[in-house]
Amino acid sequence: MEKFESRNPADLKDIIGTFDIAGPAEVEEACQKAKSAFKIWKKTPAPLRAGIIHNFGKLLEKNKEALSKIVTREMGKPLREARGDVQEAIDTCNFFVSEGRRLYGMTIPSEMPNKELYTYRRPVGVFACITAGNFPVAVPAWYFVPALVCGNTCVWKPSHDTPLTSHYFAELLKKAGLPEGVFNVVFGLGANSTGAHLINMVEKGLIDKFGFTGSTEVGQKIGEVCGRNLQNPCLELGGKNPLVVMEDADLELAATGALWAGFGTAGQRCTSMGNLILHKQIQEKFLKIFLKKVSEMKIGDPMQEEITYGPMISEVFLKTHLKNLAALIEPHHELLTEPNGQITSQKKWKHFVGDPDKGVYAFPSIVANVKPTDKIYATETFGPLFNVMICKNLDEALDLANGTGYGLSSAIYTNTPQYIYQWKEEITAGMTSINNSTTGAEAHLPFGGNGKSGNGSRQSGVWVLDQFTKWQSVNWDLSGKLQLAQIDTGYVEPDLEYRI
Ligand code: NAD
Repeated sequence: MEKFESRNPADLKDIIGTFDIAGPAEVEEACQKAKSAFKIWKKTPAPLRAGIIHNFGKLLEKNKEALSKIVTREMGKPLREARGDVQEAIDTCNFFVSEGRRLYGMTIPSEMPNKELYTYRRPVGVFACITAGNFPVAVPAWYFVPALVCGNTCVWKPSHDTPLTSHYFAELLKKAGLPEGVFNVVFGLGANSTGAHLINMVEKGLIDKFGFTGSTEVGQKIGEVCGRNLQNPCLELGGKNPLVVMEDADLELAATGALWAGFGTAGQRCTSMGNLILHKQIQEKFLKIFLKKVSEMKIGDPMQEEITYGPMISEVFLKTHLKNLAALIEPHHELLTEPNGQITSQKKWKHFVGDPDKGVYAFPSIVANVKPTDKIYATETFGPLFNVMICKNLDEALDLANGTGYGLSSAIYTNTPQYIYQWKEEITAGMTSINNSTTGAEAHLPFGGNGKSGNGSRQSGVWVLDQFTKWQSVNWDLSGKLQLAQIDTGYVEPDLEYRI
């Protein structure tokens, strides 16, 4: 069987593991297993299904530190962020455990006598899912926890960047008590590999629902295949998230939020800031505060608590970042940071923690003089690289914020209620923050984007239940005769001649 390696991006000599690449036969077998397990799992009472999710949450809690360390070792986010990643999965379990005792339908009055109407949430069937490596615990939990509670069975192709984390995610689900065949994992790469084979299973009729978290390009392909098969996938894609600082903002607070939004996880979050939009009255003052904070950041070994960001997720992400710097920066742009590119012991970051030559680290890069017609304005860069743009007023800020075609997250810093009101009404992103960063989610608030960021599907909270259940309407006629709605209904005519 073909294999792939997982390496520590903070120390490329540290090989985390070698994993089998599942071919078409293995992928089909996993789907068939899920299909046959569905017959039993859908009949398991929902509170019992949720009981297994309760166990999973407890196991995640018990193993939080160990799993967080694996996340950091495998994809390089700082340990405190990895702990947040795992905690989000625990919170998701806690939320959905009690949903297993709800999953409410309705009883609805009928227009006919001796007849009852009901609605039920029914599971969709086999749920196939492909995820990215930047949130290797939280994002799968957002999908699988509600999918399983709702009675679906699953096939998962986790990111090739985080196979060991994914292995333990699946092991914890198994130890929580999930029956054989309910949750199936196929490891491998994306294009022309396991990911592509899994998408093919939609064409083969083995999958009833698809979930994808990753790049817009791949999401579009999955959307095409699902659309052709009359399925509505859950697509959670890229972003070019704006953060606006108005003239009345608390600049210290805004600078702290922008630093986290731009450089948290080395800019490798779907919700990372892509365009920093500054009101012209405060641009100079803000940049002075902000660039000082940037210059003081600690970059380096992600196991160390004090660092702002660690390495890129893998060598591939560093290469893409270097390509972006070369391809997207134009002669009229001004780089507010020097140097740029890869951090090495020859080309050093002043506050580096550890040995840069062991891993794949990048300098922070901030590009100014960006115009809306420039490619970089509307291109997701997915690294420690973002633009600075200037606006005269809120209308202009909104045009810049909404003009990229993406619509995932957004943020504004202001204390003027009229600005906040207009911003909430006119920003087209699925999520927005007022006086907080573009990044950050809670397990019970809908998460998702519009435009190039997704197809309007939402994860988290009660809203996600509509992804993993389909509504069934039931008419129960106890009258013993054929009663026809609208035709036999005993409507009463009003006396239309009556006037007051
Ligand atoms: P990617 O699309 O390259 O890969 C994501 C997953 O898809 C991986 O498991 C990969 O193996 C698989 N894959 C890649 N190409 C494929 C193909 N042709 N066919 C089938 N499977 C394929 O994305 P990435 O670079 O790993 O991750 C970063 C992207 O994910 C960014 O665009 C980021 O914004 C997005 N993302 C979005 C969210 C969200 O919730 N909206 C969350 C995290 C990441």
